[in-house]
Amino acid sequence: MMTMCNHPTSGQCRLPVRAAPTLFRRLRRADTTKDVERNVGEVIGTELRTVAPQRAGRSASDESSRVATLQHAVGNRGMADLFGGVQRQPVEAPGADVGAVDTADPATDPGDGPADLLDAAQVVEARRYYTAQPWRYTPSIIEQMRAALDLPPGGGLDDALIQAAGRFQSASSAPELTVDGKIGPRTLPRLFRSGLNEEGEGEAFGEEVQTGVIDQWATLATPEARRDALVGLVNQPLVAHGSIAVTPGWDTNTNNSGSFHFPTWEMRIGREALTPPTLSADEAKEIADTLYHEARHSEQWYRMAQLRAGQHLSARAITTELGIPSTVAAAAFADPLDPASVQGLVAQGWWDSVYGAGSAHREAVLTEVEAADTAMKAAEKRNEEHPSPANQAAFDAAQARFLRSHHNYTELPEENDAWATGPAAAEGISGGTPAPAPAAGAAPAPAAAPEPDDVAPVRDATPGGGELIDEPAGAPPAADASSHEILPDENLP
Ligand SMILES: [Zn+2]
Repeated sequence: MMTMCNHPTSGQCRLPVRAAPTLFRRLRRADTTKDVERNVGEVIGTELRTVAPQRAGRSASDESSRVATLQHAVGNRGMADLFGGVQRQPVEAPGADVGAVDTADPATDPGDGPADLLDAAQVVEARRYYTAQPWRYTPSIIEQMRAALDLPPGGGLDDALIQAAGRFQSASSAPELTVDGKIGPRTLPRLFRSGLNEEGEGEAFGEEVQTGVIDQWATLATPEARRDALVGLVNQPLVAHGSIAVTPGWDTNTNNSGSFHFPTWEMRIGREALTPPTLSADEAKEIADTLYHEARHSEQWYRMAQLRAGQHLSARAITTELGIPSTVAAAAFADPLDPASVQGLVAQGWWDSVYGAGSAHREAVLTEVEAADTAMKAAEKRNEEHPSPANQAAFDAAQARFLRSHHNYTELPEENDAWATGPAAAEGISGGTPAPAPAAGAAPAPAAAPEPDDVAPVRDATPGGGELIDEPAGAPPAADASSHEILPDENLP
Protein backbone atom coordinates (compact mmCIF):
# COMPACT_ATOMS: atom_id res chain seq x y z
CA MET A 1 0.00 0.00 0.00
CA MET A 2 2.97 2.25 0.34
CA THR A 3 4.55 3.49 -2.79
CA MET A 4 7.94 4.98 -3.19
CA CYS A 5 9.07 7.20 -5.95
CA ASN A 6 12.54 6.20 -6.95
CA HIS A 7 13.05 9.08 -9.27
CA PRO A 8 12.69 12.17 -7.17
CA THR A 9 14.52 14.39 -9.62
CA SER A 10 13.54 12.77 -12.86
CA GLY A 11 10.54 14.95 -13.36
CA GLN A 12 8.16 12.08 -13.12
CA CYS A 13 7.48 12.80 -9.53
CA ARG A 14 8.34 16.44 -9.44
CA LEU A 15 5.73 18.54 -7.84
CA PRO A 16 4.56 22.02 -8.58
CA VAL A 17 7.04 24.63 -7.54
CA ARG A 18 4.36 27.09 -6.58
CA ALA A 19 3.96 25.60 -3.15
CA ALA A 20 7.64 25.31 -2.52
CA PRO A 21 7.79 28.11 0.05
CA THR A 22 5.77 25.99 2.38
CA LEU A 23 8.08 23.09 2.01
CA PHE A 24 11.04 25.35 2.33
CA ARG A 25 9.82 26.74 5.59
CA ARG A 26 9.53 23.29 6.99
CA LEU A 27 12.88 22.28 5.73
CA ARG A 28 14.47 25.33 7.18
CA ARG A 29 13.24 24.23 10.49
CA ALA A 30 14.24 20.72 9.95
CA ASP A 31 17.58 22.06 9.06
CA THR A 32 18.24 22.42 12.66
CA THR A 33 17.79 18.87 13.57
CA LYS A 34 21.01 18.42 11.84
CA ASP A 35 22.97 21.13 13.41
CA VAL A 36 22.16 19.84 16.67
CA GLU A 37 25.34 19.34 18.43
CA ARG A 38 23.34 18.01 21.26
CA ASN A 39 24.35 14.66 22.49
CA VAL A 40 22.04 11.72 22.38
CA GLY A 41 21.01 12.27 25.95
CA GLU A 42 19.84 15.70 25.13
CA VAL A 43 18.12 14.50 22.02
CA ILE A 44 16.01 12.10 23.93
CA GLY A 45 15.18 14.67 26.52
CA THR A 46 14.37 17.37 24.06
CA GLU A 47 11.73 17.81 21.51
CA LEU A 48 13.67 18.81 18.50
CA ARG A 49 12.96 22.04 16.89
CA THR A 50 14.71 23.47 14.01
CA VAL A 51 16.35 26.63 13.22
CA ALA A 52 16.00 29.46 10.92
CA PRO A 53 19.09 28.87 8.84
CA GLN A 54 19.92 32.45 8.20
CA ARG A 55 20.33 32.68 11.91
CA ALA A 56 22.59 29.73 11.79
CA GLY A 57 25.40 31.61 10.23
CA ARG A 58 24.54 30.43 6.79
CA SER A 59 25.09 33.05 4.19
CA ALA A 60 22.20 34.32 2.15
CA SER A 61 23.71 32.90 -0.97
CA ASP A 62 24.07 29.51 0.63
CA GLU A 63 20.46 29.68 1.60
CA SER A 64 19.37 30.71 -1.85
CA SER A 65 21.27 27.81 -3.27
CA ARG A 66 19.53 25.46 -0.90
CA VAL A 67 16.16 26.88 -1.76
CA ALA A 68 16.72 26.65 -5.44
CA THR A 69 17.86 23.10 -5.20
CA LEU A 70 14.96 22.04 -3.11
CA GLN A 71 12.50 23.80 -5.27
CA HIS A 72 13.98 21.97 -8.16
CA ALA A 73 13.55 18.69 -6.45
CA VAL A 74 10.15 18.86 -4.89
CA GLY A 75 7.12 20.93 -4.14
CA ASN A 76 5.21 21.18 -0.96
CA ARG A 77 3.58 17.84 -1.23
CA GLY A 78 6.91 16.31 -1.97
CA MET A 79 7.70 14.82 1.34
CA ALA A 80 4.41 13.10 1.73
CA ASP A 81 3.77 12.09 -1.81
CA LEU A 82 7.23 11.33 -2.99
CA PHE A 83 8.74 9.67 -0.05
CA GLY A 84 6.13 8.84 2.43
CA GLY A 85 4.11 6.85 0.02
CA VAL A 86 0.97 8.65 0.93
CA GLN A 87 -1.60 7.69 -1.61
CA ARG A 88 -3.33 10.97 -1.62
CA GLN A 89 -6.75 10.96 -3.07
CA PRO A 90 -8.46 13.98 -4.55
CA VAL A 91 -9.10 16.33 -1.71
CA GLU A 92 -12.73 16.90 -0.97
CA ALA A 93 -14.03 18.55 2.09
CA PRO A 94 -16.14 16.29 4.26
CA GLY A 95 -19.71 16.67 3.29
CA ALA A 96 -18.90 18.42 0.07
CA ASP A 97 -20.85 17.56 -2.98
CA VAL A 98 -18.25 16.20 -5.28
CA GLY A 99 -20.65 15.41 -8.02
CA ALA A 100 -20.52 11.70 -7.63
CA VAL A 101 -23.00 9.92 -9.80
CA ASP A 102 -25.24 7.99 -7.51
CA THR A 103 -27.51 5.59 -9.26
CA ALA A 104 -28.17 3.43 -6.26
CA ASP A 105 -31.65 2.92 -4.96
CA PRO A 106 -32.11 5.49 -2.22
CA ALA A 107 -33.91 2.87 -0.19
CA THR A 108 -30.79 0.77 0.05
CA ASP A 109 -28.19 3.45 -0.33
CA PRO A 110 -29.11 6.54 1.60
CA GLY A 111 -25.94 8.31 0.62
CA ASP A 112 -25.90 10.57 -2.36
CA GLY A 113 -23.24 12.55 -0.57
CA PRO A 114 -19.51 12.73 -1.09
CA ALA A 115 -17.60 10.17 -3.06
CA ASP A 116 -15.90 7.31 -1.36
CA LEU A 117 -12.13 7.42 -1.40
CA LEU A 118 -11.36 3.95 -0.13
CA ASP A 119 -11.78 0.75 -2.07
CA ALA A 120 -13.29 -2.40 -0.61
CA ALA A 121 -9.98 -3.83 0.48
CA GLN A 122 -9.05 -0.62 2.28
CA VAL A 123 -12.37 -0.61 4.07
CA VAL A 124 -11.79 -4.18 5.22
CA GLU A 125 -8.30 -3.30 6.39
CA ALA A 126 -9.52 -0.24 8.28
CA ARG A 127 -12.26 -2.22 9.97
CA ARG A 128 -9.70 -4.82 11.00
CA TYR A 129 -7.59 -2.03 12.47
CA TYR A 130 -10.44 -1.06 14.77
CA THR A 131 -11.72 -4.49 15.66
CA ALA A 132 -8.21 -5.69 16.50
CA GLN A 133 -8.06 -3.06 19.27
CA PRO A 134 -11.40 -3.33 21.03
CA TRP A 135 -9.99 -1.91 24.25
CA ARG A 136 -9.24 1.31 22.37
CA TYR A 137 -12.13 1.47 19.93
CA THR A 138 -14.88 0.88 22.42
CA PRO A 139 -18.53 1.41 21.51
CA SER A 140 -18.35 4.77 23.24
CA ILE A 141 -15.29 5.87 21.26
CA ILE A 142 -16.85 4.69 18.02
CA GLU A 143 -20.00 6.65 18.76
CA GLN A 144 -17.91 9.76 19.38
CA MET A 145 -16.04 9.21 16.14
CA ARG A 146 -19.36 8.98 14.32
CA ALA A 147 -20.60 12.15 15.93
CA ALA A 148 -17.39 14.00 15.07
CA LEU A 149 -17.80 12.93 11.46
CA ASP A 150 -21.45 13.98 11.35
CA LEU A 151 -22.71 10.45 10.96
CA PRO A 152 -25.93 9.13 12.46
CA PRO A 153 -25.45 7.23 15.71
CA GLY A 154 -25.72 3.51 16.01
CA GLY A 155 -23.98 2.46 12.82
CA GLY A 156 -20.90 1.13 14.57
CA LEU A 157 -17.94 0.43 12.32
CA ASP A 158 -19.97 0.59 9.15
CA ASP A 159 -18.62 1.53 5.76
CA ALA A 160 -19.96 5.04 6.15
CA LEU A 161 -17.72 5.62 9.16
CA ILE A 162 -14.63 4.33 7.41
CA GLN A 163 -15.30 6.29 4.23
CA ALA A 164 -16.01 9.44 6.24
CA ALA A 165 -12.71 8.93 8.05
CA GLY A 166 -10.97 8.70 4.70
CA ARG A 167 -12.56 11.92 3.50
CA PHE A 168 -11.62 13.65 6.73
CA GLN A 169 -8.02 12.53 6.30
CA SER A 170 -8.02 13.64 2.70
CA ALA A 171 -9.07 17.14 3.69
CA SER A 172 -6.44 17.48 6.41
CA SER A 173 -3.99 20.31 6.63
CA ALA A 174 -0.29 19.67 6.57
CA PRO A 175 1.26 17.37 7.50
CA GLU A 176 -1.17 15.50 5.33
CA LEU A 177 -2.67 12.40 6.80
CA THR A 178 -2.55 9.06 5.09
CA VAL A 179 -5.97 8.37 3.62
CA ASP A 180 -6.65 4.92 4.98
CA GLY A 181 -9.82 5.28 7.05
CA LYS A 182 -7.95 4.46 10.24
CA ILE A 183 -8.54 7.03 12.93
CA GLY A 184 -5.25 6.28 14.63
CA PRO A 185 -2.71 8.27 16.62
CA ARG A 186 -2.23 10.93 13.94
CA THR A 187 -5.84 11.37 12.89
CA LEU A 188 -7.34 11.30 16.40
CA PRO A 189 -6.01 14.66 17.60
CA ARG A 190 -7.07 16.27 14.31
CA LEU A 191 -10.61 14.96 14.70
CA PHE A 192 -10.93 15.57 18.43
CA ARG A 193 -9.31 18.94 18.82
CA SER A 194 -8.39 19.97 22.32
CA GLY A 195 -6.34 22.56 24.11
CA LEU A 196 -3.86 24.36 21.90
CA ASN A 197 -5.19 22.88 18.68
CA GLU A 198 -8.76 23.99 19.25
CA GLU A 199 -10.19 26.16 16.54
CA GLY A 200 -8.87 29.72 16.76
CA GLU A 201 -6.47 29.11 19.64
CA GLY A 202 -3.30 29.24 17.61
CA GLU A 203 -4.29 32.31 15.69
CA ALA A 204 -5.25 34.08 18.91
CA PHE A 205 -1.82 33.31 20.30
CA GLY A 206 -0.21 34.64 17.14
CA GLU A 207 -2.14 37.87 17.48
CA GLU A 208 -0.93 38.20 21.06
CA VAL A 209 2.63 37.68 19.87
CA GLN A 210 2.14 40.35 17.24
CA THR A 211 0.88 43.03 19.61
CA GLY A 212 2.78 41.94 22.72
CA VAL A 213 6.19 41.13 21.28
CA ILE A 214 6.66 41.83 17.58
CA ASP A 215 5.17 45.30 17.71
CA GLN A 216 7.17 45.97 20.90
CA TRP A 217 10.41 44.47 19.63
CA ALA A 218 12.56 47.54 20.07
CA THR A 219 11.06 48.40 23.43
CA LEU A 220 11.64 44.92 24.75
CA ALA A 221 15.20 45.55 23.68
CA THR A 222 16.96 42.43 24.91
CA PRO A 223 16.70 38.82 23.80
CA GLU A 224 15.89 37.88 27.39
CA ALA A 225 12.97 40.30 27.56
CA ARG A 226 11.62 39.06 24.24
CA ARG A 227 12.00 35.44 25.27
CA ASP A 228 10.29 35.95 28.60
CA ALA A 229 7.44 37.88 26.98
CA LEU A 230 6.94 35.12 24.41
CA VAL A 231 6.94 32.37 27.00
CA GLY A 232 4.59 34.41 29.18
CA LEU A 233 2.18 34.62 26.27
CA VAL A 234 2.31 30.95 25.41
CA ASN A 235 1.75 30.02 29.02
CA GLN A 236 -1.64 31.71 28.98
CA PRO A 237 -3.37 29.19 26.71
CA LEU A 238 -1.44 26.34 28.32
CA VAL A 239 -2.74 27.20 31.78
CA ALA A 240 -6.18 28.10 30.47
CA HIS A 241 -6.47 24.60 29.05
CA GLY A 242 -5.43 22.92 32.27
CA SER A 243 -1.81 22.29 31.38
CA ILE A 244 1.37 23.41 33.08
CA ALA A 245 3.27 26.62 32.40
CA VAL A 246 6.74 26.21 30.96
CA THR A 247 9.75 28.15 32.16
CA PRO A 248 11.87 30.14 29.74
CA GLY A 249 15.41 29.08 28.99
CA TRP A 250 18.07 29.37 26.35
CA ASP A 251 18.97 26.56 24.04
CA THR A 252 22.61 25.65 24.42
CA ASN A 253 22.81 25.73 20.66
CA THR A 254 22.12 29.39 20.11
CA ASN A 255 21.19 28.67 16.50
CA ASN A 256 18.29 26.45 17.44
CA SER A 257 14.98 28.20 17.23
CA GLY A 258 13.34 26.36 20.05
CA SER A 259 12.80 23.15 21.92
CA PHE A 260 10.76 21.81 24.80
CA HIS A 261 12.94 20.14 27.41
CA PHE A 262 10.56 17.98 29.37
CA PRO A 263 12.98 16.90 32.14
CA THR A 264 13.00 20.51 33.35
CA TRP A 265 9.75 21.65 31.69
CA GLU A 266 11.65 24.40 29.97
CA MET A 267 10.86 26.15 26.72
CA ARG A 268 14.33 26.64 25.32
CA ILE A 269 14.83 29.18 22.62
CA GLY A 270 17.89 29.93 20.55
CA ARG A 271 19.21 33.34 21.41
CA GLU A 272 20.04 34.14 17.81
CA ALA A 273 16.40 34.12 16.75
CA LEU A 274 15.57 36.85 19.26
CA THR A 275 18.65 38.99 18.76
CA PRO A 276 18.16 40.88 15.46
CA PRO A 277 17.05 44.50 15.75
CA THR A 278 14.20 43.86 13.33
CA LEU A 279 12.26 40.88 12.03
CA SER A 280 10.52 40.27 8.76
CA ALA A 281 6.96 39.01 8.81
CA ASP A 282 8.20 35.55 7.90
CA GLU A 283 10.68 35.58 10.75
CA ALA A 284 7.95 36.66 13.14
CA LYS A 285 5.71 33.86 11.87
CA GLU A 286 8.55 31.42 12.34
CA ILE A 287 8.93 32.45 15.97
CA ALA A 288 5.21 32.20 16.71
CA ASP A 289 4.96 28.85 14.95
CA THR A 290 7.98 27.48 16.79
CA LEU A 291 6.80 28.64 20.19
CA TYR A 292 3.40 27.15 19.60
CA HIS A 293 4.82 23.89 18.27
CA GLU A 294 6.93 23.49 21.38
CA ALA A 295 4.10 24.54 23.66
CA ARG A 296 1.98 21.84 22.07
CA HIS A 297 4.69 19.34 22.94
CA SER A 298 4.51 20.46 26.56
CA GLU A 299 0.76 19.97 26.45
CA GLN A 300 1.23 16.49 24.97
CA TRP A 301 3.64 15.56 27.72
CA TYR A 302 1.25 16.75 30.38
CA ARG A 303 -1.62 14.82 28.82
CA MET A 304 0.54 11.72 28.81
CA ALA A 305 1.26 12.25 32.50
CA GLN A 306 -2.45 12.71 33.18
CA LEU A 307 -3.20 9.56 31.21
CA ARG A 308 -0.75 7.55 33.29
CA ALA A 309 -2.39 8.96 36.40
CA GLY A 310 -5.70 7.78 35.02
CA GLN A 311 -4.11 4.38 34.59
CA HIS A 312 -3.35 4.43 38.30
CA LEU A 313 0.34 5.17 38.33
CA SER A 314 1.60 6.98 41.38
CA ALA A 315 3.12 10.42 41.06
CA ARG A 316 6.50 8.88 41.74
CA ALA A 317 6.06 6.33 38.98
CA ILE A 318 4.93 9.02 36.56
CA THR A 319 7.98 11.09 37.40
CA THR A 320 10.26 8.17 36.72
CA GLU A 321 8.54 6.79 33.67
CA LEU A 322 8.13 10.04 31.79
CA GLY A 323 11.27 11.67 33.10
CA ILE A 324 9.45 14.86 34.04
CA PRO A 325 9.66 17.10 37.11
CA SER A 326 7.98 15.67 40.18
CA THR A 327 5.92 18.83 40.52
CA VAL A 328 4.42 18.26 37.09
CA ALA A 329 3.80 14.60 37.83
CA ALA A 330 2.09 15.53 41.08
CA ALA A 331 -0.18 17.97 39.28
CA ALA A 332 -1.05 15.31 36.72
CA PHE A 333 -1.70 12.78 39.45
CA ALA A 334 -4.19 15.18 40.99
CA ASP A 335 -5.91 15.72 37.66
CA PRO A 336 -6.02 12.34 35.90
CA LEU A 337 -7.23 11.76 32.38
CA ASP A 338 -9.79 9.04 31.83
CA PRO A 339 -8.08 6.44 29.61
CA ALA A 340 -11.46 5.53 28.14
CA SER A 341 -12.13 9.06 26.92
CA VAL A 342 -11.26 10.31 23.46
CA GLN A 343 -8.59 12.57 24.93
CA GLY A 344 -7.28 9.59 26.82
CA LEU A 345 -7.00 7.74 23.52
CA VAL A 346 -5.24 10.70 21.95
CA ALA A 347 -2.72 10.79 24.79
CA GLN A 348 -2.30 7.03 24.53
CA GLY A 349 -1.18 7.47 20.93
CA TRP A 350 1.54 9.88 22.00
CA TRP A 351 2.59 7.69 24.91
CA ASP A 352 2.84 4.65 22.65
CA SER A 353 5.12 6.58 20.33
CA VAL A 354 7.40 8.10 22.94
CA TYR A 355 7.39 5.62 25.80
CA GLY A 356 5.63 2.51 24.55
CA ALA A 357 5.88 0.16 21.62
CA GLY A 358 6.90 2.92 19.24
CA SER A 359 9.83 4.23 21.25
CA ALA A 360 12.58 2.33 19.44
CA HIS A 361 11.15 3.43 16.11
CA ARG A 362 10.98 6.99 17.32
CA GLU A 363 14.58 7.04 18.40
CA ALA A 364 15.64 5.52 15.11
CA VAL A 365 13.72 8.18 13.22
CA LEU A 366 15.17 11.05 15.24
CA THR A 367 18.66 9.66 14.85
CA GLU A 368 18.24 9.17 11.13
CA VAL A 369 16.82 12.60 10.41
CA GLU A 370 19.80 14.19 12.09
CA ALA A 371 22.26 11.92 10.33
CA ALA A 372 20.58 12.55 7.00
CA ASP A 373 20.75 16.27 7.57
CA THR A 374 24.41 16.13 8.41
CA ALA A 375 25.09 14.01 5.34
CA MET A 376 23.10 16.34 3.12
CA LYS A 377 25.06 19.35 4.28
CA ALA A 378 28.34 17.58 3.73
CA ALA A 379 27.31 16.53 0.24
CA GLU A 380 26.22 20.06 -0.53
CA LYS A 381 29.54 21.44 0.62
CA ARG A 382 31.48 18.93 -1.45
CA ASN A 383 29.47 19.81 -4.51
CA GLU A 384 29.96 23.51 -3.98
CA GLU A 385 33.68 23.18 -3.52
CA HIS A 386 34.18 20.61 -6.25
CA PRO A 387 31.27 20.75 -8.66
CA SER A 388 30.91 17.63 -10.72
CA PRO A 389 28.15 15.40 -12.01
CA ALA A 390 29.13 12.80 -9.45
CA ASN A 391 29.02 15.28 -6.58
CA GLN A 392 25.72 16.66 -7.79
CA ALA A 393 24.30 13.15 -7.92
CA ALA A 394 25.55 12.50 -4.43
CA PHE A 395 23.95 15.69 -3.23
CA ASP A 396 20.67 14.77 -4.92
CA ALA A 397 20.74 11.40 -3.23
CA ALA A 398 21.51 12.99 0.12
CA GLN A 399 18.56 15.34 -0.29
CA ALA A 400 16.28 12.46 -1.11
CA ARG A 401 17.45 10.68 2.00
CA PHE A 402 16.84 13.75 4.10
CA LEU A 403 13.36 14.30 2.75
CA ARG A 404 12.49 10.69 3.35
CA SER A 405 13.75 10.86 6.91
CA HIS A 406 12.06 14.18 7.51
CA HIS A 407 8.79 12.72 6.36
CA ASN A 408 9.22 9.86 8.81
CA TYR A 409 9.94 12.41 11.51
CA THR A 410 6.71 14.30 10.82
CA GLU A 411 4.87 10.99 10.84
CA LEU A 412 5.73 10.41 14.48
CA PRO A 413 2.36 10.94 16.17
CA GLU A 414 3.55 13.60 18.59
CA GLU A 415 5.41 15.45 15.83
CA ASN A 416 2.58 15.10 13.36
CA ASP A 417 0.31 16.76 15.89
CA ALA A 418 2.76 19.52 16.76
CA TRP A 419 3.53 20.25 13.11
CA ALA A 420 -0.19 20.50 12.46
CA THR A 421 -0.72 22.76 15.47
CA GLY A 422 2.13 25.27 15.22
CA PRO A 423 1.26 26.90 11.89
CA ALA A 424 -2.01 28.20 13.29
CA ALA A 425 0.01 30.62 15.39
CA ALA A 426 1.66 32.05 12.30
CA GLU A 427 -1.79 32.90 10.99
CA GLY A 428 -2.12 35.48 13.74
CA ILE A 429 1.04 37.31 12.70
CA SER A 430 0.28 40.30 10.52
CA GLY A 431 3.71 41.75 9.95
CA GLY A 432 7.31 42.12 10.97
CA THR A 433 8.72 44.45 13.54
CA PRO A 434 8.10 48.17 13.09
CA ALA A 435 10.93 50.12 11.56
CA PRO A 436 13.19 51.25 14.39
CA ALA A 437 12.27 54.76 15.42
CA PRO A 438 14.83 56.99 17.12
CA ALA A 439 12.25 58.28 19.53
CA ALA A 440 10.16 55.28 20.31
CA GLY A 441 7.41 56.07 22.74
CA ALA A 442 6.48 54.10 25.74
CA ALA A 443 5.08 50.71 24.93
CA PRO A 444 2.91 48.41 26.95
CA ALA A 445 4.81 46.13 29.21
CA PRO A 446 5.03 42.53 28.15
CA ALA A 447 2.64 40.09 29.68
CA ALA A 448 3.88 38.73 32.95
CA ALA A 449 5.01 35.15 32.84
CA PRO A 450 3.12 32.87 35.17
CA GLU A 451 5.11 31.43 37.99
CA PRO A 452 7.00 28.33 36.93
CA ASP A 453 5.17 26.16 39.40
CA ASP A 454 1.73 27.23 38.36
CA VAL A 455 -0.43 24.20 38.11
CA ALA A 456 -3.82 23.61 36.67
CA PRO A 457 -6.80 23.80 38.95
CA VAL A 458 -7.39 20.44 40.49
CA ARG A 459 -10.57 18.97 39.14
CA ASP A 460 -10.35 15.69 40.94
CA ALA A 461 -8.21 15.05 43.94
CA THR A 462 -7.35 11.45 43.28
CA PRO A 463 -7.54 9.03 40.42
CA GLY A 464 -10.68 7.05 40.77
CA GLY A 465 -10.73 3.40 41.68
CA GLY A 466 -8.18 0.64 41.41
CA GLU A 467 -4.99 -0.10 43.19
CA LEU A 468 -2.27 2.47 42.91
CA ILE A 469 0.66 1.42 40.76
CA ASP A 470 3.97 2.67 42.02
CA GLU A 471 6.15 1.11 39.35
CA PRO A 472 6.53 2.72 35.96
CA ALA A 473 5.79 0.54 32.97
CA GLY A 474 8.56 2.15 31.01
CA ALA A 475 11.29 4.67 31.22
CA PRO A 476 12.24 7.79 29.35
CA PRO A 477 13.50 6.98 25.89
CA ALA A 478 16.85 5.26 26.22
CA ALA A 479 19.91 7.03 24.98
CA ASP A 480 21.45 4.03 23.30
CA ALA A 481 18.41 2.45 21.78
CA SER A 482 18.88 4.10 18.46
CA SER A 483 19.21 1.99 15.43
CA HIS A 484 19.49 2.68 11.79
CA GLU A 485 17.44 -0.19 10.65
CA ILE A 486 14.74 0.21 8.06
CA LEU A 487 12.03 2.45 9.29
CA PRO A 488 8.58 0.91 9.27
CA ASP A 489 6.02 2.84 7.35
CA GLU A 490 2.96 1.30 8.78
CA ASN A 491 0.73 3.05 11.21
CA LEU A 492 1.64 2.46 14.76
CA PRO A 493 -1.11 0.76 16.71
ZN1 LIG B 1 8.48 18.80 17.53
